[in-house]
Amino acid sequence: MNGCDHPGLLPVEEALARLLALAESAPIAGDEQVVLAEADGRVLAVPLVAGLDLPPWANSAMDGYALRLADWTGEPLVVSQRILAGSAPQPLQPGTCARIFTGAPLPEGADTVEMQENADVESDGRVAFSEPLRQGQNVRPQGQETRRGETVLPAGTRMGPIEMGLAASLGAAELTVRRRPRVAVVSTGDELVPPGQPLGPGQIYNSNRALLIAWLKRLGCAVVDAGILADDLELTRAALTGLSDVDLILSTGGVSVGEADFLGHALREEGELALWKLAIKPGKPLTFGHFRGVPVIGLPGNPASTLVTFGLLARPYLLRRLGVQEVEPLGFTVAAGFVWKKPGNRREYLRARLEHGRAVIYPNQSSGVLRSAAWAEGLVEVLEGTTLAEGDSVRFIPLSEIQA
Ligand code: AMP
Ligand code: MG
Repeated sequence: MNGCDHPGLLPVEEALARLLALAESAPIAGDEQVVLAEADGRVLAVPLVAGLDLPPWANSAMDGYALRLADWTGEPLVVSQRILAGSAPQPLQPGTCARIFTGAPLPEGADTVEMQENADVESDGRVAFSEPLRQGQNVRPQGQETRRGETVLPAGTRMGPIEMGLAASLGAAELTVRRRPRVAVVSTGDELVPPGQPLGPGQIYNSNRALLIAWLKRLGCAVVDAGILADDLELTRAALTGLSDVDLILSTGGVSVGEADFLGHALREEGELALWKLAIKPGKPLTFGHFRGVPVIGLPGNPASTLVTFGLLARPYLLRRLGVQEVEPLGFTVAAGFVWKKPGNRREYLRARLEHGRAVIYPNQSSGVLRSAAWAEGLVEVLEGTTLAEGDSVRFIPLSEIQA
């Protein structure tokens, strides 16, 4: 796998396909049990199988009266019991009805519920129904949602609030999830200083570290903060050597063409390296390699490039290593609220917002400008070799699709 295979620029989907294939050959092995409340963002290692029917018993969808439809002749019925949610009813006495509330079990023998709004309570307490009744109405049958033994969530599902609620509905107190991938974050660059220290001449604050660490945590990773790495081969080699127990080394910077490329040197010496020139903007240079067997992804250093290449390439790679199938962000088509005159040879991801249903772009799309992404709600994809007039269709990828 070598950038030389493709003399031109590597299309984004080809780079993604390669990364996903690499991910599938290096699955994160190892599972752990977590209590349900700790499962948010984690990936199921085994399917969640229903251990019971849902609902476990037929119940009422309404506050009203439960009856056997055959008992309703038009003559008012005696109310023989009152069934609240959480109670265990008696079998329904033939020829009577039961007062029943939403979520309460249907008594044995009843097959129909009429809502209280359509019930007339006579002075003697008996009840008549004013509307025609249909057998089974307002009854939630046992197993309507799920049958015992059904797979409700397959292995590889990423747990979120909804999945956690679903697991809880099936009584799952613990889940078996993939262990957290250990990901080391390396920021390269002599110019970088961590926030909290004064800036010297020529220095800037390290923004990628904060961005990537927060993002990786949201992805359920255990982050190893490898700090800032000076542009120096010996230091680079030593730093990478110290990261032998991680699942991925994620570095930023130092992959631009023509630059003193110490990450690349270290990988060539102690492992292998593929340097890809991607047809992506912001982005373009991306390194994939191994250092002494540990996978390494080198993202470009400009913060907006880091954002786009992590979101569209490294994030799917990491999720696929966890066994997640759906790793690509959803996007939708919107009308461009801007003009794009110059066709590019790279696919552009413009930081954009929706205004009145149209995508408008941040005026400064420089790859060094992270503020554009903070302003944005999503990325507008402009395909290679295309121009756009206002109103043309473009794909809009919400940042919320990739930021977690
Ligand atoms: P490089 O890929 O090392 O040539 O970096 C490209 C640009 O991104 C340069 O302007 C760097 O100063 C900048 N850069 C690299 N890493 C970071 C970082 N961690 N935080 C902010 N800017 C960075
Ligand atoms: Mg650099």
